[in-house]
Amino acid sequence: MDENTKQDELEVRAREMLIERGVTIDDIADLVYYLQASYHDNLDLETCHYNVDRVLTKREVQTAILTGIQLDKLAEQNKLEQPLQKIIETDESLYGIDEIIAFSIVNVYGSIGFTNYGFIDKQKPGILERLNDQSTGEVHTFLDDIVGAIAAAASSRLAHANADDKLLDD
Ligand code: MG
Repeated sequence: MDENTKQDELEVRAREMLIERGVTIDDIADLVYYLQASYHDNLDLETCHYNVDRVLTKREVQTAILTGIQLDKLAEQNKLEQPLQKIIETDESLYGIDEIIAFSIVNVYGSIGFTNYGFIDKQKPGILERLNDQSTGEVHTFLDDIVGAIAAAASSRLAHANADDKLLDD
């Protein structure tokens, strides 16, 4: 018997958790548009939305979302043990595990995603600016990297699909 959690249960919960933390597919689609608009003629938000949606069907992406958001929430509720509580709560720059989790997402569509991830992580457009606003009292140490990584992965997917002149199925 397969002891792994069913894929649709993971996917439903991962999508719910993004919404609960104030991130919509449209927000991530806007980031994909930001990254890709200059490389594609007539790119529209619907295509960006479609590619984000496909990225969210990947098990690696779903487990990254569940893990990262869970840690953000526990830190927000002051429920982690020290010193990890303080490290995550204050988004310490030398921590780096948030980025490791993001890389597991970027990896899904190959190395082209790393460049996109690095770029968007520096620029912090759109939803990423809000997630990085420390004055809200919310903790998004993991989520900002996860959202940037989903946008980078969706951008890679879009680039590959364009190169092959077809819509990828996975
Ligand atoms: Mg971070």
